Amino acid sequence: MLNDINVQYLKGVGPKRVEKLNKLGIFTIDDLLEYYPRKYEDRRKTRKISDVTDGEKVLLKVKIVNYPSIFKPKRKLSILKVDAKDETGFVLITWFNKDYLKDKIKINEYYNIFGKIKISYGKIEIINPDIELANDMTIAGKIMPIYPLTYNLTNNELIKIINNAIKFHKHDIINVIPESIINKYSLLNKREAVEFIHFPLDRITYLKAKKTLAFEKLLILQLGLLTIKSRLSNNMDGISFSDKGLSEEFIKNLPFTLTNAQIKVIKEIKKDMTNSKPMNRLIQGDVGSGKTIVAVVAMLNAVSSGYQTAMMAPTEILAMQHYKTITSYTNELGLKVEFLSGSTKQNKRKEILENLKSGLINILIGTHAIIEKDVIFKNIGVVVTDEQHRFGVRQRALLSSKGLNPDILVMTATPIPRTLALMFYGDLDISIIDELPPGRQVIKTYSVGESKKEDVFKFVKDRICEGRQAYIVAPLIEESDKMELDSAVEIYEKLSKSYFNEYNIDLLHGKMKNNEKEEVMKKFYNGITDILVSTTVIEVGVNVPNAVVMLILNSERFGLAQLHQLRGRVGRGRHQSYCILVNESKSKKSKERMNILTQTNNGFIISEKDLELRGPGEFFGTKQHGIPEYDISGIVSDVKVIQEVQMLSKQLLKCNPKLEGKEFEVLKTKIKNLFKNEEIAFN
Ligand code: ADP
Ligand code: MG
Repeated sequence: MLNDINVQYLKGVGPKRVEKLNKLGIFTIDDLLEYYPRKYEDRRKTRKISDVTDGEKVLLKVKIVNYPSIFKPKRKLSILKVDAKDETGFVLITWFNKDYLKDKIKINEYYNIFGKIKISYGKIEIINPDIELANDMTIAGKIMPIYPLTYNLTNNELIKIINNAIKFHKHDIINVIPESIINKYSLLNKREAVEFIHFPLDRITYLKAKKTLAFEKLLILQLGLLTIKSRLSNNMDGISFSDKGLSEEFIKNLPFTLTNAQIKVIKEIKKDMTNSKPMNRLIQGDVGSGKTIVAVVAMLNAVSSGYQTAMMAPTEILAMQHYKTITSYTNELGLKVEFLSGSTKQNKRKEILENLKSGLINILIGTHAIIEKDVIFKNIGVVVTDEQHRFGVRQRALLSSKGLNPDILVMTATPIPRTLALMFYGDLDISIIDELPPGRQVIKTYSVGESKKEDVFKFVKDRICEGRQAYIVAPLIEESDKMELDSAVEIYEKLSKSYFNEYNIDLLHGKMKNNEKEEVMKKFYNGITDILVSTTVIEVGVNVPNAVVMLILNSERFGLAQLHQLRGRVGRGRHQSYCILVNESKSKKSKERMNILTQTNNGFIISEKDLELRGPGEFFGTKQHGIPEYDISGIVSDVKVIQEVQMLSKQLLKCNPKLEGKEFEVLKTKIKNLFKNEEIAFN
């Protein structure tokens, strides 16, 4: 198998190159073949000098007309220049620090050159082009892949290495997708797909290659997700709850009336719960749409039918907040509600475990600490997970395995486009709360450039002088948590010494211990802190009604959905709230993206727009689907493929739930590998 062959055995790869490849995350031939180009340069057509335009990259076939000359304006800079021509005009070729070319270039000889055109005062120049003899045709005459990152390798070196990998190992590349499906969907064989994604012959082969590879990845993911799910739900009977009126009483005693959307979703949940088939329902709704109450109704419904229930949240802060909310609702009902997290003291934990087992505890709320092995319930009937934007198939499965086919309710505050929700959440039934409680204020949202930062800080000060509080979110940094942390710390230190030195300013980040975080949040909640500088950890949870400004630095680095989430942290009280996006990019596209947020508060609209503007790839970050080694953002760029794969997967499983037969063997192995930590139907 190609995932066992180390790149060091490949022709042209010595120890130094191995090291460089490893830095790119490439260890095996498989890794190398899956290192897809970021874009391509079309070098098929030779252009004429007379019709090139400034700034474009072109392929020319030229004859050298004079001897090259070298200038050394600085110690570390040398410039090589030579004139060349074709039958339509002249071009000046310029190279930087490539002195060795001087002796190679022959006067009156013909060459292919590919580089960027610069035209000033009518003079045509080509900068740092690739060059080869006209008959060579290795840099010319084809579509060239451009790889995302090459570390100390040049793009051309990487091309050669990958070309060798394909040349020597092509015949070991086998189809994962069954042949009948390849034919039905006009896909390519894997072998061709791999070759053409690196070296497409034309646009059509490129698109087919990309579709084939995306199709394969999606099929593995989708079939895996669907088969975990079917274990959870379809097979056996679950619990048929009988509503004893507890939830009705709870609703009657609420200080407000439910929205129509809440009523509709509660109805859907109650219907599921009455049915003996286990409920598997996702509640999608914007921040503040009132999902918690809906979940509480389901939980009370279970309790009044004589069952226990549990709710799991992704962070301690959020879990604690749910705990507080829920206990405030259930106080008068005489129920026993407990909180369990990683920082629960040993004694307390022991007591909780005992009381869970004996059935004394009705409701348990906590972090993933509640799915540990020794947490045993007497009879858990409903499990609720609040997943925000984390996709926790595995956690969900573990929690539900604590009972006998309990009903499952998943809450998410990240409205994702419908097609993608169907993919991520397998065949969970989806309920949508698409209405906010009445009287909610509209958060005023502004997008400003970097030059306005001081004005914005002044604005924050004014709000604080009025007695309000503010969040400042440090830029999202993809490379590492560490850098994100550094940037938050840096901003905090700078601001606390300059603009905000007279105010109480505090810092919150993900690397802090839970009790430290709690402490910081408590101080902010109690109004002791005026300004909270934070990484995105505040995104989940946290309800501070007196906070009225959400200031996000480098907002262009965030996804729209994430910005929308952050915005939902303000506007929770009676004061007018503001979300200020400091967009430090000048690109038109990021301006356009920011404008979407200033124009609407509806998370569903925002997510559809995000899909439209950035493509589905962005939704496939590993954070979304929760399978770390499976990032398909680079390859899936088309919603239609997702839909096709969804339909196909359902069809396949309907007729052949265990995917029996020889043609599914490779596919099944891939699925098992990806879902090695889950229980899937083929094990
Ligand atoms: P979500 O979990 O969807 O972000 P919550 O359930 O935390 O939202 O509700 C947000 C706030 O709105 C809470 O303070 C809750 O008490 C309140 N709330 C929920 N439903 C209603 C309603 N129908 N009318 C008025 N306020 C509501
Ligand atoms: Mg909530």
